[in-house]
Amino acid sequence: MAGILVYALHDDEGNFNKNSLGALSEAAKLAGELGTEAAAVVVGDVSDEGAQGLGNYGVSKVYRAKGVAEGLAQPIVDVMAKVITDNGYSYALFGGGLLGFEIGAGLTARLGAGVTMEVTAVKVADCKLISERPILQDSQIADVGYVSEPGIIIGRLNAFDVKESGGSAEIVDVEVELSEWSTKAEMITRGEQRGADVDIEAADVLIGGGRGLGSAEGFDACEDLAGVFDNGAVAATRAVVDAGWYPYAAQIGQTGKTVAPKLYLAVGVSGAIQHKVGMMNSETIVAINKDSNAPIFEFSDLGIVGDLNKIMPKLTEALKARKG
Ligand SMILES: Cc1cc2nc3c(=O)[nH]c(=O)nc-3n(C[C@H](O)[C@H](O)[C@H](O)COP(=O)(O)OP(=O)(O)OC[C@H]3O[C@@H](n4cnc5c(N)ncnc54)[C@H](O)[C@@H]3O)c2cc1C
Repeated sequence: MAGILVYALHDDEGNFNKNSLGALSEAAKLAGELGTEAAAVVVGDVSDEGAQGLGNYGVSKVYRAKGVAEGLAQPIVDVMAKVITDNGYSYALFGGGLLGFEIGAGLTARLGAGVTMEVTAVKVADCKLISERPILQDSQIADVGYVSEPGIIIGRLNAFDVKESGGSAEIVDVEVELSEWSTKAEMITRGEQRGADVDIEAADVLIGGGRGLGSAEGFDACEDLAGVFDNGAVAATRAVVDAGWYPYAAQIGQTGKTVAPKLYLAVGVSGAIQHKVGMMNSETIVAINKDSNAPIFEFSDLGIVGDLNKIMPKLTEALKARKG
């Protein structure tokens, strides 16, 4: 058993992302149960201090590929495939997110490995890892094992909690010859998505957008409406964050933020329990949903049954007129 390898994503300032730190913490915990060790892979400009600091999340070793650009999947697949092949890692674990999905899928194809995506928990049975994956619209959980090594595990975004354990990791610098196709795309700029800078926890009025908005563009109407209020902001359900329609920073719920604004206006949100736990303490809850049986109406102060595409623009217009 040669351990668990985790990819740790960082921004241009060298700050590691929370989702990756959660995956490192989970890998370290699982490795402890398996009687083995967890290690991280980092690419690009990561200082000695930054790499060693990942030991604080339980990994004993950090493989660093300095010349490889951060943020594109294919070069990172090259790096991870080499580290796994050279050192015989039994599992690769990803925290999810779009890049994690892309790298995990590429690594699976490259190594002919087994993969499980959207994993919400991992457990140990008979000295092997078993991934738990929600199925049938999250109503059931499937247990998935791996018949050969390595097994690739891709978590849901922020499925794993960050746990600091103290400690410092050993750095192993690796040289990797990139595949020809891995150099055919280049990163031009990396930056925050729209809305990522909004502090939803401090807003008095939150417009919570869900899958009923239909697309990322549907959030324009939410931003319009939020802009009418003095301290308004836009929040989102996990379904739309996972779809890449709105940034994770705005996600409310079990694996997102907990908010308690004066007014929470849910548009196209079904009101799943995992969303409810993040916004149920709002002072007043108003919901717009075309389905009169949507669970959100069970805990709303005011429910509007109808098409949000018709109601939202009129509501925004009326509020603007009233304010004016
Ligand atoms: C471990 C775990 C953790 C999770 N954590 C979170 C979390 O932190 N936050 C979170 O939000 N979810 C979380 N989820 C997911 C959650 O279970 C739901 O899948 C998610 O909240 C659903 O998002 P939604 O309401 O946007 O989409 P849907 O459930 O698809 O609902 C869309 C709604 O829009 C309505 N609609 C469609 N078109 C229109 C229209 N034109 N006008 C008006 N209404 C319309 C529909 O009637 C429907 O009710 C988690 C799940 C699991 C298993």
